[in-house]
Amino acid sequence: MKKVYLDYAATAPCDPDVVKAMEPYFFEKFGNASSLHAYGQEAKKALEDSRAATAEFLGARPEEIIFTSGGTESNNNVIFGVTDALADKGNHIITSAIEHHAIIEPCRVLEKKGFQVTYVGVDKDGLVSCDEVKKAITDKTILISIMHANNEIGTIQPISSIGKIAREKGIYFHTDAVQTVGHIPVNVNELNVDLLSLSGHKFYGPKGVGALYIRKGVRIGRFLCGGDQEKDRRASTHNVSAIVGLAKAVELCAKDMDREAKALVALRSKLIQGIPEKIPDVRLNGHPQLRLPNNVNFSIKYIEGESILLSLDMLGIAVSTGSACTSSSLEPSHVLLAIGLDHATAHGSLRISMGRWTKEQDVRFLLENLPKVVEKLRAMSPLYEKK
Ligand SMILES: *Cc1c(COP(=O)(O)O)cnc(C)c1O
Repeated sequence: MKKVYLDYAATAPCDPDVVKAMEPYFFEKFGNASSLHAYGQEAKKALEDSRAATAEFLGARPEEIIFTSGGTESNNNVIFGVTDALADKGNHIITSAIEHHAIIEPCRVLEKKGFQVTYVGVDKDGLVSCDEVKKAITDKTILISIMHANNEIGTIQPISSIGKIAREKGIYFHTDAVQTVGHIPVNVNELNVDLLSLSGHKFYGPKGVGALYIRKGVRIGRFLCGGDQEKDRRASTHNVSAIVGLAKAVELCAKDMDREAKALVALRSKLIQGIPEKIPDVRLNGHPQLRLPNNVNFSIKYIEGESILLSLDMLGIAVSTGSACTSSSLEPSHVLLAIGLDHATAHGSLRISMGRWTKEQDVRFLLENLPKVVEKLRAMSPLYEKK
């Protein structure tokens, strides 16, 4: 059966060159980067080369990068680590209503402990307003965290402008850039951020490895305590093979990012035009222009996103109803509710996310099959009859 993967926002396959770069670090170069002998020093060199490459890609300095187990850990470290280090300064955080759960859930934990969290809303396209962020600031605000681009609807936020506001007020500013690093330009200075999270498996690196950028001088508590790895900022034996893989993935993205993004925007346009042409009563979610090159998200009225997903899966096409993390729960996506969709419309949403190996024929295959699937499901839908 033909198989078409259109769920790159959930995870991407490794680039074969990434796996090739990693392989020696499982075998002859398996050393612990903290060991003093030759095995250790060889691993240490690979670790520091990877750090330098990752830093350069972000416009950062090598000592401002720590390697983590992924986007979730980087985000958790920011929320818990900054509030811990700045407990004497205040207890208020500003974030958005459409963050990934790896930001929202740590914030909820802090709320239970007495912290104040403001979740600023977004407009119908999913954009955070700089004014609203500014208005939310109090003299107790110690951290602002706004994602660079949303993982469900693809909207890209005005991070640089929000960063300027944060800097004027002397408040740390973090961005969850897991969906953008490797796909669109990400430079910590242009974005005016103090902290930034990224994750390897979203840009053709391995799973279970990520990084956190911490601007020099920023106070942040440790997330994992133990050994003194990462200058005592993150304990645990370095996952050298994965870190080498992440750096290789960075290198490959750096080489070809513009061309890749252009190709994806062309495919994205075909879907954004083609779906409403072939299917009545659909709504594009997310900003029409300010969106990730690889992201398409539609609400398809009168039917359930899950039913569409499962029907497409039987045809070999993998898509998502939103975020892979919520797809097992029955609650509609908090992101789709935040842009103003009612529950029924939010439940009928489909995310199509493309990547390095998506071909025009894959998009065509989806455009041939999706209308048939929708027509069949709508024919059985009591909501559609009542329309
Ligand atoms: C995938 C994702 C994460 C989580 O990253 P992991 O490396 O899977 O823990 C965090 N934020 C966003 C926006 C994501 O898309």
